Amino acid sequence: MMSEDQVIVGLEVHCQLDTKSKLFCGCSTDYRSDGPNTHVCPVCLGLPGAMPVLNKRSIEYAMKVAKALNCTVLHESEFSRKNYFYPDLNKAYQITQYDKPLAEGGYLEIESDEGGERRIRLTRIHVEEDPGRLVHMGNAERGKYSLVDYNRAGIPLIEIVSEPDMRSPKEARKFLNKLRATLEYLSVFDSEKEGSLRVDANISIKGNERVEVKNITSYKGVEKALTFEVTRQKNLIRRGQRIERETRHFIESTGITQSSRSKEQEHDYRYFPEPDLRPLHVQSWMEGIVLPELPDARRERFVAQYGCSLNHARTLTGELKLANFFEHVVAADPKGLSTLAATWIADTLIGELNYRSMNLESVDAPGFTELIGILKSGILTDKSGIDVLRVMLDQRMNHQSCETSAAIVDRLKLRKVTSVTLEKSLTYEIVPNPILTAITEVLTEQPGAVDDFMKGKKGAFNFLVGQVMKKTRGCADPGELNRMLVEALKKKEV
Ligand code: ZN
Ligand code: MN
Repeated sequence: MMSEDQVIVGLEVHCQLDTKSKLFCGCSTDYRSDGPNTHVCPVCLGLPGAMPVLNKRSIEYAMKVAKALNCTVLHESEFSRKNYFYPDLNKAYQITQYDKPLAEGGYLEIESDEGGERRIRLTRIHVEEDPGRLVHMGNAERGKYSLVDYNRAGIPLIEIVSEPDMRSPKEARKFLNKLRATLEYLSVFDSEKEGSLRVDANISIKGNERVEVKNITSYKGVEKALTFEVTRQKNLIRRGQRIERETRHFIESTGITQSSRSKEQEHDYRYFPEPDLRPLHVQSWMEGIVLPELPDARRERFVAQYGCSLNHARTLTGELKLANFFEHVVAADPKGLSTLAATWIADTLIGELNYRSMNLESVDAPGFTELIGILKSGILTDKSGIDVLRVMLDQRMNHQSCETSAAIVDRLKLRKVTSVTLEKSLTYEIVPNPILTAITEVLTEQPGAVDDFMKGKKGAFNFLVGQVMKKTRGCADPGELNRMLVEALKKKEV
């Protein structure tokens, strides 16, 4: 169903393949912590007479991706030279694939905005080399000078081109997340490496010219840039103006797109077959490529094997590390722990990590597993469970010595207070039940709310519950609290 102002999005995604050496030479790809121009040789510097030698591993990785994305590998593919001059392109041509890419067709399934799966078709996947990197002193517009670092030149890339099948910026984001997950499951890509993914996005409003937003370097950036474009283009249409077919750049710091000053026309790159590399025939090799379990299969397995809800399974399998973490936590007792663990990881842990800008590696897995076990035993309220988790994460974040979950529970006296503990206290020592004490105090302190409750005002009861909960620092068993409060209020009525 396409409405009049239907948004149409297609993506071109460049991903660095996580090989040890570059695409056409033996230089190491592990350049990020080293000085500029330290990972270079005559080949990737484009010196005269230097000859490219194809890295077999990069093609194997690209074929894995093609297979995982249901593409057809071409009987013959070929490298071409794409000619243009730019300071980051030392040879003045990029070795890429043009009319004979490695693979065509295929698709990736995403969760659609309306729920359910939606199939995003792919046009092609091809292999090419990354150009170098320009470092502008000042900014690109007004810098005094620019420096060039060829460490990145020759890093293997795959470019994945989608059909214009996405219908919102959110779907574009989902496509990228799913793509990232798939590439990580294949162990061919490291999304945490800076600059490992770059996206060009084509976006139009149905019936109008399309705009290309170039070189977006973050996952969030893609959604932001497209959201900005939707608003900009719809406003132009509303004012009766024409949308121009143009290239724009996304400015990460301000969240807007800007028309590229260079009036880029359809370049004639004068593609021609790369004479130093032979055509590729990989079909028989392709048959031997074995894929690991991919996100969709793992999601279905999490539902079937652990009884996860579809939403939890989707979240947990949406990142390889998260899925592994979940399986690690529940390994000792899958039946007993999986529901709790799924809820606590997907609904709580992820949020707490994001809030602290921490990643999963900094979570103490045994400590978290212990916490899930304690929650399972029923001695903590959910509220106290969150407190324990927060203390654990804060200690990690601040590099303090880390307590066990049990130690935190004891130190903060977070054990749930229930009538069972009450009975014990009354039998063996005269200790007032903290819930009752809190209720008595609250009923004295809040005569207004008690009055409101008697008059049958909605919300008064919940307010009183909240006050009691606060006094018990969240330790009161909610069921017990409710029961005791009802009783105490009944006594008041008499
Ligand atoms: Zn090199
Ligand atoms: Mn490209």
